[in-house]
Amino acid sequence: MKYRKLGKSGLLVSEIALGNWITHGAQVDEATAQACVHAALDSGITTFDTADAYSETRAESVLGESLKGIRRESIELYTKVFHPTGPGHNDRGLSRKHIMEACNASLRRLQTDYIDVYYAHRFDATVSLEETFLAFSDLVRQGKVLYIGVSEWTAEQIKLGATLAREMKVPFVASQPQYSMLWRIIEAEVIPACEREGIGQVVWSPLAQGTLSGKYAPDKPIPEGSRASTTAGSGFFKRLAGQWLHQEVLQAVERIQPIAKECGLTLPQLAVAWVLQNPHVSSAIIGASKPEQVEENVKAAGVCLDPEVMRQINNILNGVVEFDPSKTG
Ligand code: NDP
Repeated sequence: MKYRKLGKSGLLVSEIALGNWITHGAQVDEATAQACVHAALDSGITTFDTADAYSETRAESVLGESLKGIRRESIELYTKVFHPTGPGHNDRGLSRKHIMEACNASLRRLQTDYIDVYYAHRFDATVSLEETFLAFSDLVRQGKVLYIGVSEWTAEQIKLGATLAREMKVPFVASQPQYSMLWRIIEAEVIPACEREGIGQVVWSPLAQGTLSGKYAPDKPIPEGSRASTTAGSGFFKRLAGQWLHQEVLQAVERIQPIAKECGLTLPQLAVAWVLQNPHVSSAIIGASKPEQVEENVKAAGVCLDPEVMRQINNILNGVVEFDPSKTG
């Protein structure tokens, strides 16, 4: 494993992190979840990503249990606040009340005294940014949170947040957007804005939810047991995976296979290595429904891809890649 600084901060994070959206507390049983976490630890992953709202809060609890007994100083924990965690009108968003209550609940479920990076999971246009950042600032002063991040904020929203963070001396150092060979919307605006502010990218779905593993072949049925087939969440996951499962995309992905082979990599390894070629990326958060997937994907750490390989990939995917920054969030 290789480790990178998170933006301008002194915090080192593993360049491949393990996330537990959809999997822990929903798609996979607890033993499998624990096996995935242990496969990650065994391969040098020290950075783990979750959110309070994942699997109606169960994902945080499963991660907390899986990491029990691991030296706290040896790992970095990310979690997030914004999406609903209960039925009440204050059980969501970025108000001071919800941020304070959500942070305390996350600490309990994760069985820890502090969160390394606490993310605003989305922008909340109904709450003043001052209120949100004051709450973050207080959590930092209380030692419950070490650093602040945001997820799926536009460049403009990030700039506003960074100005307040500077005034309040809040260490705002991370942006968590979707980024992969197929989804490159952060390149035009978010990355330049973050670079000016010393904010690193912690990118999610580097495999486009498994599409870039090559498991979804054109004209073939969706494989049994895959994310696109899961019924957890009343088809929510199927709909999301459906974003990618079009003939044009799948045919293009098939044409990337031989390039991976020539590089001595599997397709998932090439996809993870591809996002890590971007120097603005501090870490890539992978997901896994089996420990073997973690073991395979971590081999992308430290891989250096030839510029000619990057050019060939661009040529093949030309026409199916999304670049439009207005799709943020
Ligand atoms: P990926 O794009 O890495 O997709 C992971 C899924 O792809 C796995 O669960 C598995 O699904 C399949 N897969 C992975 N490796 C392989 C392999 N080697 N061979 C075949 N299939 C494979 O990431 P996710 O979409 O899971 O996102 C990663 C993390 O990012 C999340 O857990 C979460 O922590 C974070 N995230 C953050 C968001 C935000 O708003 N901030 C939003 C979404 C995610 P299967 O086996 O079931 O087909």
